[in-house]
Amino acid sequence: MYVTLDEVLKELKTLLRPEQFNDYCPNGLQVEGRSSVRRIVSGVTASQALIDRAIAAEADLILVHHGYFWRGEDAAVTGIKKSRIHSLLTHDISLLAYHLPLDAHAELGNNAQLGKLLGFSTTGDIGKQNNHSIGLTGEVAEPCSGVQLAMLLESKLGRAPLHIAASDREIGTVAWCTGGAQNYIELAVKAGVDAYITGEISEQTVHIARETGIHFFAAGHHATERYGVQAVAAHLATRFGLEHQFIDIDNPV
Ligand SMILES: [Zn+2]
Repeated sequence: MYVTLDEVLKELKTLLRPEQFNDYCPNGLQVEGRSSVRRIVSGVTASQALIDRAIAAEADLILVHHGYFWRGEDAAVTGIKKSRIHSLLTHDISLLAYHLPLDAHAELGNNAQLGKLLGFSTTGDIGKQNNHSIGLTGEVAEPCSGVQLAMLLESKLGRAPLHIAASDREIGTVAWCTGGAQNYIELAVKAGVDAYITGEISEQTVHIARETGIHFFAAGHHATERYGVQAVAAHLATRFGLEHQFIDIDNPV
């Protein structure tokens, strides 16, 4: 089955509502390729490695969470940015990127999908930005120790988390936000949960965890953000009868 690029963009606009977000990058079509789409490749970051794999897979369109043209970066198309965009244009492949809209979607978003993967029930959020949740709160399937939650994260994400065991309290309630959201740890503390899970950690995160007694888990920026983009691409594949392949380019961070 074929669908036009315009139809794909229209569907994603309806689904993800990018106009509702004040983001650090343009959301939607970042590099335009051929006007008909049959095969989608999804991935976390539009790195050269992902583009090369998408070319080999004969993709018409790449859908990612981390695209290009971030606020504050040099706007000139030089160096690695030139190489990546050159590869896309040469092969007539479109690059579609959705950052905050992909984190926030209530069903297909990164946070919702991570919670589903880990078997958490969602009870609320740790805060909102432009009316959209920036991270979720919920309950674990079964109250457990910090060590047991670390084991669950490792088995589901294929990567051992860094666990700051700031107390030995049992974990019943959790907050989570995918990616580099270690700065939201205090919102998780305020929400009164036993544990906070995100992708990355900073030096000061350890002290905040220790001084507030919350279990903290850095489970990987890449590892925690693999699921939203897959869910959205799978939705497109079903909606339009397209082929879809998620390509995981390993990233230890
Ligand atoms: Zn991210």
